[in-house]
Amino acid sequence: MPRHLFMDSGFVDFAYQDKAFPIAAGQTISQPWVVARMTEVILQGDVPEKILELGTGSGYQAAVLGQLIDQVFSVERIDALTKQARRRFIKMGYRNIRCKTGDGFEGWVSEAPFDVIICTAAPEKIPYSLLDQLNLGGKMILPVGDKEKQELIALIKTDDGFKQEKLGEVYFVPLLEGVVR
Ligand code: SAH
Repeated sequence: MPRHLFMDSGFVDFAYQDKAFPIAAGQTISQPWVVARMTEVILQGDVPEKILELGTGSGYQAAVLGQLIDQVFSVERIDALTKQARRRFIKMGYRNIRCKTGDGFEGWVSEAPFDVIICTAAPEKIPYSLLDQLNLGGKMILPVGDKEKQELIALIKTDDGFKQEKLGEVYFVPLLEGVVR
């Protein structure tokens, strides 16, 4: 994945370092290791066909998923970032990634259910209501916590609720409510 295409102009030279970097609006492009780890968890078991990402940001994680999964949907709360990511997806020739500006806490109701929901910003508590937008056996992968401590968690939707797996400590920007136009 040509990560330099997702970096802000001042940081292009650092694109192939395994670190997060600032992008517009005080947000970050995720660290490649974290993108790889979350992608690995997503691909365990049956390869999902339809995935929802919350927190498009630079578009980098969505593009990685776009190489591997039939249908990728991504929601971003900051409209300027959605527009920038959409231009990148079009320029790179992706026809299977759709993005929109919206509040990730609401998911993408008209496209549900999904096989996987991946959240690339951290809510303080698990937004259990999003499990409604998952298929049975589907997974939700998300960092949960505050500035001090966050844990990467996978929830698997079962007949009678969900199973939870802890995947280690991470650091993401917070998942915030509301949309910025
Ligand atoms: N996946 C991105 C990581 C971006 S950082 C990448 O690969 O670069 C997380 C992003 O989540 C930020 O752009 C932030 O604006 C966005 N975000 C925060 N709260 C959100 C919410 N409620 N809904 C949608 N996006 C949100």
